[in-house]
Amino acid sequence: MLIIASNFKTNHTRKSTKEFILKTNSFIKENNIKNEVLIFPTSSSLDSFSCEKNLNIGVQNAFSAIKGSYTGEIGLEQIEEFGLKTILIGHSERREIFKESQEDISKKFNFYKEQGFKIIYCIGEPLEIKNQGLDKTLDYLFAQFEGIDTSYENLILAYEPIWAIGTGVTATVEDIKNIHEAIKSKIDKALLYGGSVKLENIKEICSLKSVDGALIGTASWDVDDFIQILEKTKDLK
Ligand code: PEP
Repeated sequence: MLIIASNFKTNHTRKSTKEFILKTNSFIKENNIKNEVLIFPTSSSLDSFSCEKNLNIGVQNAFSAIKGSYTGEIGLEQIEEFGLKTILIGHSERREIFKESQEDISKKFNFYKEQGFKIIYCIGEPLEIKNQGLDKTLDYLFAQFEGIDTSYENLILAYEPIWAIGTGVTATVEDIKNIHEAIKSKIDKALLYGGSVKLENIKEICSLKSVDGALIGTASWDVDDFIQILEKTKDLK
């Protein structure tokens, strides 16, 4: 079974999110899709959607608090209102643009772990680190597990090289294999690949033994493309 996840980032409105989810849900039902499908809408588009068992809605980000004075953030109370229990943590855009430190991220991780959330935990290296070779890249990636309980039962990992996110440049199959095998030799968890996954390469990437699915941004925002992605990956594992 694969895990196919769509990260909306700051895209789609409340209305188009609902249409996207309803259409995806019907497709899953009518086409007997067995893979696990995750959709991460913007926080303004969260709702209680009634979906097939293998379609889950998650939050892209939340603060590590039940509620309180954290202007601009949502907390557990706002997520639980919709019965949601899935969160993305450590995405490179949170690390790079919003300057979340490893300490912030591990606090967030521990808070949502305590709440029993399914956590999709992202790691990834910038180009200047990749260019220093595999050993340096792995050192950089493993440092992103500091303060993270990698034995947590509801943990899914996502390897997302920063230079491949939203750039159209996908990591080579060789790159993905090397990194995924190294991570999997140390951490026994489902491991997704993310970074310019698209209709043309999803099959090849998800066919790799060490790849348990994909976290997709840009190429997943058009619902017809996303549905095709689900179709293409339907019988892979
Ligand atoms: C992402 O942001 O998680 C991602 C993988 O984006 P894209 O598919 O656009 O590279």
